[in-house]
Amino acid sequence: MPNYDVHVLSGVITYPLAVLVAFLLKVYAGVPFEMSSTAMVVGYGLYVLGADLPDMDHPNALIHRGTKPIVAVLLGSAVYMWAKGEIHLSQPWMSQTAAWGIGAVGAVVGWYGFTAVMPHHRGVVHSLLFAAIYGFLAFLLGPYGLHMSTGEGLFLGFVAFSGYTLHLILDRSVKLI
Ligand SMILES: [Zn+2]
Repeated sequence: MPNYDVHVLSGVITYPLAVLVAFLLKVYAGVPFEMSSTAMVVGYGLYVLGADLPDMDHPNALIHRGTKPIVAVLLGSAVYMWAKGEIHLSQPWMSQTAAWGIGAVGAVVGWYGFTAVMPHHRGVVHSLLFAAIYGFLAFLLGPYGLHMSTGEGLFLGFVAFSGYTLHLILDRSVKLI
């Protein structure tokens, strides 16, 4: 089973091949990829991230442990935002502190919940379905998140899907779902 370094480095090294395939699809098959330098740089990040992302489903994987605090803080902050509108104590500082107290509880729930709700290792997260979802989100990121053209978004979706699939190939567990 390849480890973190192998997965990430495989993405770092094979990106030129993904770029080559994209160019061939564009030039010879008429796929409307738009490969600006910005799209290819952002694509590099998404490709390398994708090459490790499936191991999100393993509680000891670096990507899982690295994502957990982000999820916890986001959930805790969301709970705080909700709680500060609900709590009205005699002093504003009391309300704020209490709202953060409830937010911190939400963050702890997020911390353990993130691991608890994750499907088992090499389950559905290690599938072409999830590769396609990741690719679709990357495609949306282009036009809707980064003000890129549709063609650039298509390229991002393609390399994100390819990076994710590279991981599955190295794990020797390429399945549809
Ligand atoms: Zn894996």
